[in-house]
Amino acid sequence: MDQAQASDDRELRIRYLSVLERLENAVCRAGRKAGDVALVAVSKLHPAGAVAKVAGMGQTLFGENYVQEALEKRAELAQAGLAGDVRWHMIGHVQSRKAALVAGAFDMIHTLDSVKLADELNRRCLARDVFQNCLVEVNVGGEAQKSGIDPQELPRLAVHVLESCPRLRLQGLMCIPPVYDARAAAQPYFAELRRLRDRLQAETGLALPHLSMGMSGDFEWAVLEGATFVRVGTDIFGPRPAKQS
Ligand SMILES: *Cc1c(COP(=O)(O)O)cnc(C)c1O
Repeated sequence: MDQAQASDDRELRIRYLSVLERLENAVCRAGRKAGDVALVAVSKLHPAGAVAKVAGMGQTLFGENYVQEALEKRAELAQAGLAGDVRWHMIGHVQSRKAALVAGAFDMIHTLDSVKLADELNRRCLARDVFQNCLVEVNVGGEAQKSGIDPQELPRLAVHVLESCPRLRLQGLMCIPPVYDARAAAQPYFAELRRLRDRLQAETGLALPHLSMGMSGDFEWAVLEGATFVRVGTDIFGPRPAKQS
């Protein structure tokens, strides 16, 4: 291994350990228990080799955004015998025409956001005789260009999944706030997602234990509001290479 490589690996380790430490401190400050919040290491646009290195440091849970890229990366890791106990979550927007690739291929889909996608996933899961854990992505900022369902539409989608999609297991909600890298300024959006979850739980009787919220620039504040998954990319892997396409 050359020196530049060794120094990159050292930096990766330092960044990863520092995220773990920040997470541990945040969980402690929030008066929550270690283990209440799972770290999803977001590896989109980073190579399989980087995933293997972070997995080698003990990280088991990884999040990917792009279906094709995720499946290729996983095949590469498996082929190199490096898949180990790595588990994968889909955290990017899923088009319904890609449902066949996604259904049953991820431990959790964080981005269910339409009846159409729910139906497509359910149909594919049925064909494969599998069940799929899902979170509904909510557009908490009410942004026109953002994916995620409008908060007013949330009960309708949840009831649809409950009544018509027996292969989907709805576990909670996910959001991406309209402010980026904004630290405490993101906190009201996390609080809003939690309120939406609590209300939906009361209205439907569904158990919705999970809240996926918080990224590199704001995850400590998400932990304060009850996040059970934080999705951290840049502060672990460093800046992302540009997307090819
Ligand atoms: C890329 C991405 C992240 C990670 O963002 P960072 O700011 O790099 O930590 C988290 N969640 C989603 C949905 C993403 O697309």
